[in-house]
Amino acid sequence: MRDIKSEGVTDEGKSINYADMLLLRFGEFMLKGKNRSRFEKTVLRHVKEIVKPYPNVVLAKEFGRIYVELNGEPAVEMVEALKNVFGIASISPVKVSQSELAEILSVSRDFLSILAPAPGTTFKVKARRVWKGFPHGSLEMNNLVATPLLQGYPGLIVDVKSPQLEMKVEIRQGNTYIFCENIAGIGGFPLGTNGKAMLLLSGGIDSPVAGWSSMRRGLEVECVHFYSYPYTSELARQKVVDLTRVLSRYAGGIKLHLVPFTEVQTAFTGIGQDNLIITLMRRAMLRIATQLAEREGALAIVTGESLGQVASQTLPSLNVIGRATALPLLRPLIMMDKNDIIELSKKIGTYDLSILPYEDCCTLFVPKSPTTNPNLRIIDKIEATLPGYSELLAAAVEATETLRITPYGNELPKDVVSVQAGLQEEWF
Ligand code: ATP
Ligand code: MG
Repeated sequence: MRDIKSEGVTDEGKSINYADMLLLRFGEFMLKGKNRSRFEKTVLRHVKEIVKPYPNVVLAKEFGRIYVELNGEPAVEMVEALKNVFGIASISPVKVSQSELAEILSVSRDFLSILAPAPGTTFKVKARRVWKGFPHGSLEMNNLVATPLLQGYPGLIVDVKSPQLEMKVEIRQGNTYIFCENIAGIGGFPLGTNGKAMLLLSGGIDSPVAGWSSMRRGLEVECVHFYSYPYTSELARQKVVDLTRVLSRYAGGIKLHLVPFTEVQTAFTGIGQDNLIITLMRRAMLRIATQLAEREGALAIVTGESLGQVASQTLPSLNVIGRATALPLLRPLIMMDKNDIIELSKKIGTYDLSILPYEDCCTLFVPKSPTTNPNLRIIDKIEATLPGYSELLAAAVEATETLRITPYGNELPKDVVSVQAGLQEEWF
């Protein structure tokens, strides 16, 4: 198979082998003062983590942007990785020239010959003199740069309003940056800048997408997974570890809390009201997650629920389930269609893992006809009269095992690093 990456083409089909540098622009967090600089520092920290495997890269931060000097490192690979950094709105591959007219002209000529625009391409040069010490103003530079380029490429057609090819020439003290492409980044808020939430992570399609959407909104997430050993297998557990690892690519590292849920679930099966089991289980999950949130300093719980998708996600069910926690319950997918959720899961790289067929603790205990309209008073009463219920929940919290998952290494069980190992410390 043809390896397009090695030929210097991004996922969007753009050839960017020419780049000396990548210019990263920050996203929507147009906040003032302290917050802005905190946000920018967070993005820089995330970018530093991403460029770690590339020893020749040099980073520089300026107001509103980050410069990534490549020094021979592969531009395409880096763009693909940097596109996933939350808070980066766009990336431009840049050719760098010294801020000296003859060199600017020669670099822009070389650049155009690399781009090799087809005859008939509409074109414009947009110069910006940031360094006022440069002897030619912005408008004058438009002409000085464009004229020889148009002479060399008679097929180009000038269009100053909406050209297909706009060559930007940014003249700064020391260096001038010449670029045409604007590759979209993932945007959103820098990781963790909106606080921390616990993500209820099943092995399904939805909850990893809910987690990613939360992270994109600037939430740090810690994953909470409920398993029912021996009813659920080691493979099901490993699947959740692997899903967390995919999410950790966007975060640098993520905590995963594995909660033993067998005893709680079996307590419900003895009640004799099978149609209420799912409601009771979901509420138990929320109660346990709330206790973990308090312990970990998280201020919300995120789930992958989507309105009407299954019996436990009708409005009456969501109402009764949601009352089990006083924390804000965030449901990023609540109004999304399943097809759109699936698309997103493919894009973020969780889909192939999510569709592996291992049992989830909930599917095992699913009754034939789960209620779509649970009665809150009855549910409250069952929970209040269940012997030793709060002790059962406390015991599950107590027995919870916490792993720290990083993006590195292969996907084998031995690769799971325990909290004590202290990998990637700066991310926690
Ligand atoms: P998913 O694809 O995320 O499993 P789903 O459509 O299968 O979603 P449910 O199984 O009803 O939905 O679960 C609803 C939500 O409850 C999940 O999105 C997840 O947030 C949470 N959840 C379900 N099972 C578990 C589990 N075993 N551990 C942690 N959270 C869970
Ligand atoms: Mg599920």
